[in-house]
Amino acid sequence: MIKSINPDNSNVTTTKVPNAHKSKGRLMQNSHKNHKSETYDDLKSDFSREIFSSLESYLPTDMLTISRAEKVKYMSNILLDYLPPGMRNRDQKQREYRRMILSNYKPRHQEIYVVDPTTFFVPTFLKAIYDNTEESIRSIVSEPAPGIFTFEMFQPHFCELLISEVENFEKWVNQTNFQVIRPNTMNKYGAVLDDFGLQTMLNKLMESFICPLSKVFYSEIGGSTLDSHHGFVVEYGKNKDTDLGFHVDDSEVTLNVCLGKQFSGGELFFRGMRCEKHLRTETHPKETFDYFHVPGRAVLHHGRHRHGARATTSGHRVNLLLWCRSSGFREMMKYKKDFSTCCAKCYQEKSKKMLQSIEEVKSVNNTHFSFSCFSF
Ligand SMILES: [Zn+2]
Repeated sequence: MIKSINPDNSNVTTTKVPNAHKSKGRLMQNSHKNHKSETYDDLKSDFSREIFSSLESYLPTDMLTISRAEKVKYMSNILLDYLPPGMRNRDQKQREYRRMILSNYKPRHQEIYVVDPTTFFVPTFLKAIYDNTEESIRSIVSEPAPGIFTFEMFQPHFCELLISEVENFEKWVNQTNFQVIRPNTMNKYGAVLDDFGLQTMLNKLMESFICPLSKVFYSEIGGSTLDSHHGFVVEYGKNKDTDLGFHVDDSEVTLNVCLGKQFSGGELFFRGMRCEKHLRTETHPKETFDYFHVPGRAVLHHGRHRHGARATTSGHRVNLLLWCRSSGFREMMKYKKDFSTCCAKCYQEKSKKMLQSIEEVKSVNNTHFSFSCFSF
């Protein structure tokens, strides 16, 4: 017997739960076909309401008649089992944090919360995406250095609206003294767009407008299977961050678009791709590339491409960052030992080894040949 609070009538009730299902939850292999699940529409949970309705028909037979609250508890435990231990807490805290913002923050520009292609993107970009051929994609990009692609992407008005929305969010944060979480460990300013309602829009942006490009340029590193993202803006200038140290991103593919405003400095510098082991190795002169930001213009690069931002010496610079990730690629990388496709140093070492083994084979063949001659 366990004691619980039953949300159906808010009284403290005592409910009998079958012992076999007390700790580790189990589901039936087949669903109860004629069972009608309860309604979970009013439920406050970290998981979606629909998932409870679907799971209910797979509950063990003796659990179908217990209270809704107990069913929810049982099913929640099963769902949590699917998340790794560290993630469980982090995921729940993040959902709670976002729920707190969403129930209090009032957006200023509702129109940017849903992708509207014709008002967001410049016509050349849109046409290339809609044509969706390798040729159309390649026709709008420049590759100023290997693996780095730049192209015109956003309309000036969309950039203005996004900056204005971020300013509105910052204003709310200051007025309410809200303990905001910054985009990453390196930026003291800037905001996570996913935290205040832009997650769905950014997901659509990644799936429908970045995947067509990354499929062409980064298919070997999960570019065609991007399925999650971290979207944020960074701000540089007076009373903001100044520069950004040398680093790699926690992404397969990174989209970096300057939104404005007026500024000088702030160049993005690249120093070659490296795996985790070779992160701090020297840069070959050919790997050095500096990019000057232009509002509305995007840079697309491999997450493991080492980079940083030089000081924004005057004005105010705001950039949108979208770290795009592929769960399938990450799973595959756990078993991979050869990083020569994404690390210049690994590639160099691999080529050196291959040359060495070719030399060895040559010398063995020569010895064998001499011996054969001698044996005659
Ligand atoms: Zn390496």
